[in-house]
Amino acid sequence: MSIRVAIIGAGPSGMAMLRAFQSARQKGAEVPEFVCFEKQSDWGGIWNYTWRTGLDQYGEPVHGSMYRYLWSNGPKECLEFSDYTFEEHFGQPIPSYPPRAVLHDYIMGRVEKAGLRAHVRFNSPVRWVDYSDATGQFTLTVKDNVKDALYSEVFDYVVIASGHFSTPNVPHFPGIEMFPGRVMHAHDFRAADEFIGKDLLVVGSSYSAEDIASQCYKYGAKSITFSYRTRRSNFKWPSCFTEKPLLEKLDGRVAHFIDGTTAEVDAVILCTGYLHHYPFLPDDMRLKSANRMNPPDLYKGVMWEKNHKLFYLGMQDQYYTFNMFDAQAWYVRDIILGRITLPSDETIAADIAGWLAKEGTIETAFDAIDFQTDYMKELIPATDYPMFDLDAVAALFKVWEHDKERDIMGYRDNSYTSIMTGNTAPPHHTKWIEALDDSFEAFINPPAVAAE
Ligand SMILES: Cc1cc2nc3c(=O)[nH]c(=O)nc-3n(C[C@H](O)[C@H](O)[C@H](O)COP(=O)(O)OP(=O)(O)OC[C@H]3O[C@@H](n4cnc5c(N)ncnc54)[C@H](O)[C@@H]3O)c2cc1C
Repeated sequence: MSIRVAIIGAGPSGMAMLRAFQSARQKGAEVPEFVCFEKQSDWGGIWNYTWRTGLDQYGEPVHGSMYRYLWSNGPKECLEFSDYTFEEHFGQPIPSYPPRAVLHDYIMGRVEKAGLRAHVRFNSPVRWVDYSDATGQFTLTVKDNVKDALYSEVFDYVVIASGHFSTPNVPHFPGIEMFPGRVMHAHDFRAADEFIGKDLLVVGSSYSAEDIASQCYKYGAKSITFSYRTRRSNFKWPSCFTEKPLLEKLDGRVAHFIDGTTAEVDAVILCTGYLHHYPFLPDDMRLKSANRMNPPDLYKGVMWEKNHKLFYLGMQDQYYTFNMFDAQAWYVRDIILGRITLPSDETIAADIAGWLAKEGTIETAFDAIDFQTDYMKELIPATDYPMFDLDAVAALFKVWEHDKERDIMGYRDNSYTSIMTGNTAPPHHTKWIEALDDSFEAFINPPAVAAE
């Protein structure tokens, strides 16, 4: 019987895995049978926007954490696929910070062009994964939500690509249960319109906090109060923003902070991060990690140390995204194809320990960028994924960090040069803060000139 590979999740990481196998097949290699299980009705992962929150139509926890008016929070030049450029997809250079629908179109374009849809079983959440030492194979139990039936299938390799920005981490604050307004986690945030004219408390200081707050301001929130746990941000926020230390309690509409100050607010958005959550895995195969640059127990950030037929994609805290998922998928593919020879268990353990120690030296955002750049430099040359100038990408990430510090509400108006094509992005026709229509059509087409 032929070798079979199961991929769990058809988000950007799972799609990178599909594309990696297809790329090898296109070049004449014999590849195993690969089947991707996706619990949503379409691919794209969190880029497959849903209006739903809570449970979906089948009673599954909604995966999506994406919100309506999201624009890329990093330059597209840093995440560009090296085997499928933005210019190839759009037929022309486009601005550096596309909205959600445009990025979604780009990542879909590559897998649609490669004809990979038939490899995905949609509406198919994986319920459980078993491994047999006797056979050296995995048994996946899957729910076919359309037929409302459970079934099992046997595979030789399993690739977990189920994402880790979907299960909310929700701390409790005294008094929150009696708060007389809207309380939500960022996972359930969909559209900023609901907060027009409102005083908002945004708990957290991560990307979600800064982006959701910026978006609510853009669409007309009256004021934003941030509550940070560790330190205030470096950003120059508009005058209606305030940064406070950690929230201590809520008393009616009044938020009390640990420095003794208060703020009266209409709604609370908890941007308090996400949990790595793999309810379909037994303990001995389950990654237990916080959101960090170097999750533990993974060789080269992808292969489960205790079972070399089990892989994880995209589980790192992310500067690099789409092209890092590619680098990982190509690496996993080449382990499975036997093109990469694994070293001894001792060498694997030493390599994992080396990366953990290196992670321990990270102090600043620039250190983290350099760390992930070094990781990319290790993965890409091991496969035939087209190499690109990673030092240029690292430099661009650092420019981006400076651009944000200079102008948090205007950094998305900057243009950068593609590392892949050498062409510079045109400026967007409308400043981000004024671009309220974030549709694909509005972004790609210049606004119609009003008739005289
Ligand atoms: C709000 C938000 C904004 C972001 N913005 C950006 C951005 O601007 N730029 C950027 O580059 N990155 C951004 N990211 C980072 C994001 O992590 C990546 O872009 C990317 O989506 C990660 O891909 P993934 O495939 O690893 O995970 P996901 O996109 O989460 O996809 C995982 C897939 O697995 C499926 N799945 C889960 N469990 C099962 C199961 N049991 N059985 C079957 N299928 C399952 C899910 O339905 C989903 O389709 C953002 C993340 C968030 C949360």
